[in-house]
Parts: sequence; structure tokens; C-alpha cells
Amino acid sequence: MHIRRILAHVIVTASIVLAADKQRTLKPGWNLFSPDQDVKMGQEYAHEVERQVQVINDPALHNYVNKIGSRLVGAIEGQKFPFTFKVVNDPSINAFALPGGPMFVHTGLIAAADNEAQIAGVLGHEMGHVMLRHGTNQASKANLIQIPAMIAAGIFDRGGLTGTLTQLGIGLGANSVLMKFSRSAENEADLYGARLVHRAGYNPVELARFFEKLEAESGKGSAMTQFFSDHPNPGNRVKSIQDDMKFYDRKNYETASTTPELTQAKSIIKRLPAPPKRTAQGSGSAQAPQGPAVTTNVPEGFKAHQTTLYAMAYPSDWSSRPADDGVSATLAASDGIVRGANGQDDIGHGVILSFVKPQSNDINTATDELIKGLTQGNPNLRASGNTQSLRIDNYVARITPMQGQSSMRQGERENVMILTVMHTQGMFYGVFIAPESRWRVAEPEYRQMMQTLRFKR
Ligand SMILES: [Zn+2]
Repeated sequence: MHIRRILAHVIVTASIVLAADKQRTLKPGWNLFSPDQDVKMGQEYAHEVERQVQVINDPALHNYVNKIGSRLVGAIEGQKFPFTFKVVNDPSINAFALPGGPMFVHTGLIAAADNEAQIAGVLGHEMGHVMLRHGTNQASKANLIQIPAMIAAGIFDRGGLTGTLTQLGIGLGANSVLMKFSRSAENEADLYGARLVHRAGYNPVELARFFEKLEAESGKGSAMTQFFSDHPNPGNRVKSIQDDMKFYDRKNYETASTTPELTQAKSIIKRLPAPPKRTAQGSGSAQAPQGPAVTTNVPEGFKAHQTTLYAMAYPSDWSSRPADDGVSATLAASDGIVRGANGQDDIGHGVILSFVKPQSNDINTATDELIKGLTQGNPNLRASGNTQSLRIDNYVARITPMQGQSSMRQGERENVMILTVMHTQGMFYGVFIAPESRWRVAEPEYRQMMQTLRFKR
């Protein structure tokens, strides 16, 4: 085997660094989860992934990828997540990392790489998503209300996290908020990856080159589409990385066109049997029970939101956004959904409905826990007025009035009624929201909607 090692000399001179230039700082954004919860979540999802993909246990292949992985982990500065690296028998050119560190590398990625630095580059990019906690950051922003409620309900501490998150649509399925990154997250992951591979002694430019190569191929409709649907191209990858490299210490990167190990890995991959046909990734477990949908009386001017656990009437000119689980939903007035400052949708006039499994069967204890969670995620939200005990469809229920900052009307307050109903399947909750200026009309409408709630017997 003839291997030619090419030493690429990257010369960094002080003169190209402008005085005004400052290297971008990369650090994790706002997050409702703790780093430990990232780890726990990733481990749970990893089990789910491993049931659905074919992990290759070939020692040479496994060791090769883990050797690259450990070299990168060794170059991480500061606190590290517990990274693991597994090879998946899948010809598509892809790799993905779950929050907290589990990483899966498709055989197609190894087969397509020109050199080890390109594999390292993709791994470094994925590790950037993990270290900068992009998945849970995006999930936090997309689920401001539900996640704190679930944290408060103790769901994350008692396991069953993924099932509950699937309930919110935070699964691993198509367009999962955990896996589909924004362009700015992509750019951060590129820079993180570039700095990491540089510290590990790989040429960072290979990362950008590999992505460009994939981009060119995906235009031809090859197996690349999946990678770029999860990792949208932030544009000017090469330039962005080269600009960042001005700040790196000078290094002679060892760029091998190939190595005996890469050649060996590629030949092992060639001999692998075709992977089993894939089932839909991350189908997840729906929380909705089997059976017919619950029905309710629909007053004039209303329509029905029906699930197998409950039904409720709501104004006929509103829209509904049911979650994948078949239980949770957002119902909103035609102008009730607003694009928040963080680019995510916020609800200004409408209702969020869901079920949680509380630790306590006592409605007051369970509701207080839920509200504690809500106020953690929405610091502006405060109790306002007395709670009301009532029965809805013969179940024990409570209404808790609160006030917050309207996301619809700048500077205006909003009223929020939190309805909790203790059911045999868990606790139903509805968050009824409207700006103060609409409350005179909204409140009686909300009370009417509550009275149409019917539950599974
Ligand atoms: Zn990415």
C-alpha cells in the first residue's frame, strides 16, 4: 500500500488579522434543561436509535472511529459531555449526535471521505452541536410552556423522558427540533468543529471542503438530502472557517490523502451486507390511548377538538395545531400566534392543552408543581387572584388565574387561566391566554370552552 502524506502548511501571519477583528465567542445559549438532563435525554434517545438502526460491531471499524473521536474529545477545553461513537450500517452520507454526547456515524460518511480530517471535521461539527447544546436550546425555545411544566411534574427525574418529549413532538422524527438546526447554530457548529479539529491537529479547512463536496452531490439528488435537511447550509462555510482560522496558532497539519486505517475501514464497509430496510426513524410512542375519540356538545359558532382522551369545543374561526402524540394541542385565534423575539412561535391569544403524569394525585399539589414549572420558564408570569375549585365532567378541577406579559401586544399584560383536571390517566391541563384588552370577550368564551370538556371514561 502506498500512502502519500502531504503536509499542508498553513501560514498565518499577523498582518491579515485586522486590529478590529475579534474571534467570535462560542457558548451555549439559553436552556431550560440542565446539562445532566441533556445527557439523560441523549442516552434515552440513543436506546431508541439503536433499536432502529444497525450498529456495526466490527472491531477495526469501531476502533477507527473511536480513535478519531477520542482525539477530538481530548482536544475539548473545559467540561466535556460523555461522548460515545458508534458506526451505523447506512450508505447515506450522514452522522448525527444526540444531546449529551451519543454520536452515530454512517458507513456512507466514511466511504465518502477523502481523508481522516474530513471525518474528524464532521465529528467535530456534531460535537459542536452537543457542546453548545443546540438541540435542547432549540427545544427550550419551542416549548417555553410545556417543558417547565414537565420538569416541575418530575417527569425528567423519574425516567420516561423520551415518551413525554415525544408527546411534545420533541422526538427524533422528521423535523425534530432536537435534530434540525438553525443556520446560526450550523455556523457555530462549523466554528466549534474547526477550532476543535485544529487543536487535535487536523486541518479545519477539510471540514468546509467536505460539506461543499456534499453540497455539490446533493444537487444531483443523491443520498445527501437528509444531512442538509437537519444541518441547513449557513452559506460561505469555507470563508467563515478561514476567517476564524486567522486566530488559530500556527500549525503544520498532517493531511493524509488517505491512511492505511481509512483504506481498511472503506474495504470493511464494502464487504458489509446491505442494511435492513429502515423503518421510519423515531416513530416514538404515542401517548394517546387506543379507542374512539371522545365526543362533546358543540355550541353554535364552535367546533370540536377531539382526542381519544378528551374533547373540547372551541371557536370555529380558530385554528388548531395538534401535537404528534394525538393528545396535546395548541388552539389559537386567527391572529393569536405570534413570532417571538427568538424566532419561535409564541401564543398570544389561544389555548394550550396537554396531559401530564404528576407525582401527586392531589390536584392542589399537582397544580402547584405545574405552576412552579410554568413560572420558571416564564418569569413574568405571576399568580393573580384566588384559585377556584370546580368539577368538570364530574372530575375534580381547579382554575388558577395568572398574569404575564403579552407576546401579542407590546407592553400590554395578558391574563392566563390555568385549568387543571385530575383524571385517571393523569392530570389534564389547559392554559387559556389572552391580552388584557381582549379579556372581557375572551374570559366568558374560555369558561364556555371549559364547560364543554369531556373525558374518556
Ligand atoms: Zn450541523
